[in-house]
Amino acid sequence: MLNVKNLHVSYGGIKALKGVSMDVNQGEIVTIIGANGAGKSTLLNTITGFLKPVSGEIAFKDHPIGRNPAKIVKMGICHVPEGRLVFANLTVADNLMLGAYLRNDRKQVATDLERVYDLFPRLQERMKQIAGTLSGGEQQMLAMGRALMTNGDLVLMDEPSLGLAPLLVKTVFDIIMEIKGMGKTILLVEQNARKALEVADRAYVLEQGRIVKSGPAHDIAQDPSVRAAYLGTKSVS
Ligand code: ATP
Repeated sequence: MLNVKNLHVSYGGIKALKGVSMDVNQGEIVTIIGANGAGKSTLLNTITGFLKPVSGEIAFKDHPIGRNPAKIVKMGICHVPEGRLVFANLTVADNLMLGAYLRNDRKQVATDLERVYDLFPRLQERMKQIAGTLSGGEQQMLAMGRALMTNGDLVLMDEPSLGLAPLLVKTVFDIIMEIKGMGKTILLVEQNARKALEVADRAYVLEQGRIVKSGPAHDIAQDPSVRAAYLGTKSVS
């Protein structure tokens, strides 16, 4: 579904991605794990057209994605950005409808809104509340709901569990599984490698702008160097 080939991205003189190649197949959850500054957000922001690569290719459903973020959304890629980035002064309902801004299939938009409210009853209860007054967990749900309102097939999620209390982290990962169950494909960037590897089908390990390991998530979770660096355990249990 998504094919990234030999991607190089720089910020001025700083090389953030140094030849990244990776694929996501339809129906999978693929996770990218890596430390702070490894280049995870850079990869997602390049896929969604917000950053221009120095070189490399990105294709979605066998078509080059181009560099126009709005067109990329229309192709079916949606992004749940790091830090949620909800529109703080707008209501929950308005934030959700902005996710559907590029769509003109009104009936389907209404159906999708119902599905989002089914998935996040808390958002339905608070549909008239100003988004900036939501808790961190609720804002994360709103950011996920807004992305789903684009009706994209591929959902990019950047650190959805960041800064959330443990119980909410569990909720967020349960919701990720539910979104998969809705037929979506997910590319998940996470510092919480343990949880990400639990839900993912496949994983890539990104270190200093390079993919250093990849494979089935279960195998990556058993890899001794991954366990030592990202899971805080040395022995295989
Ligand atoms: P984190 O989990 O902390 O967000 P990350 O893996 O997502 O980390 P990136 O945010 O992609 O990492 O950053 C990759 C590298 O690019 C880092 O060295 C970072 O300092 C650098 N970088 C990111 N954004 C910018 C920017 N706007 N200007 C300059 N350098 C940047």
